Amino acid sequence: MNFDPTLKTQVKNLVGLSPRQGKNLIKTERYLVAYLKRHGIKVVIEKFPVTIPEATKASLMIDGELIPCLSCSFVGGAIENKETILSSTIPSRYNLDLPNINFNPLSAAICRNNFYFAPALAVARKHVSRIARAKNILGRVDIEKFRGQAAHLLVGNSHNPRSVVFAHYDSVGKGATDNASGVAVLLRLIVEFPETLASTLYVFDGNEELSYDYPTYWGHGFRVFEDRHNLLLANSEQIITVDCVGNGPTEESSDPNMLRLDFPIKNSAKWASKTSSLSGDFPKLMAVYHSDADIPDQLSEKYLREAVNVLRKKVG
Ligand SMILES: [Zn+2]
Repeated sequence: MNFDPTLKTQVKNLVGLSPRQGKNLIKTERYLVAYLKRHGIKVVIEKFPVTIPEATKASLMIDGELIPCLSCSFVGGAIENKETILSSTIPSRYNLDLPNINFNPLSAAICRNNFYFAPALAVARKHVSRIARAKNILGRVDIEKFRGQAAHLLVGNSHNPRSVVFAHYDSVGKGATDNASGVAVLLRLIVEFPETLASTLYVFDGNEELSYDYPTYWGHGFRVFEDRHNLLLANSEQIITVDCVGNGPTEESSDPNMLRLDFPIKNSAKWASKTSSLSGDFPKLMAVYHSDADIPDQLSEKYLREAVNVLRKKVG
């Protein structure tokens, strides 16, 4: 049988629907359902409401000159000084309510690593020294709450699965690595090895990146799933998240500290011993994280394929 498109082509198709939020999220959901149905795979769609921030304006004026920037805030307002220039590699929990201008020191791109419950603008690191020297700073963010729908797409055994495997399909920016890669890997595994559906539930999650849940705004879709299917998770033998694979060798982690970030559900501590995550090259990811530099060229067919094989072995 021919499994075209290649994994990388699949990633390109998903990146073509980015940023995968709002209307594009619905398009992505339809694309995934159509793809699976075309391959004779049954899909159960479970919808849930989502609220995400939509920036209607984001601007940063430095001594009278506009600097390229992107909003990364849940609320609008002004940023009128340079007292809170932040590295966005600092976990958001330390500065969640602080109006700020932030940059990713590990990347040349404008990265929205974190979102804040205060006016916040992300800039490229090359502009940071200029901002630090500026006399007059005026940042402005206007945010509208977008209320829409997301869905979990359930494929496989939704009654008593031995394994539950998650991949989120929403994105901040283009999201080739994060997480078109994981979605492409699950699609391939399902279509190429449909026998795994008997004991595995694959969950495509439409809302991992952004929500108004405070302070852990990410992982909302995982928590909705947990609320609805607590017993199913409790009775499973293993829970696996596939996020940001294919940009290097596949790494498997069950570090509880990482899991709290990767899979922030209410029972994450209780089920830590049976939860693991598959990811790729972390430093390579950080250099493009949540930016428009996270394009399909970040990934290789070889490592995407390797991720399929690793996951295939785990689900048995
Ligand atoms: Zn992700």
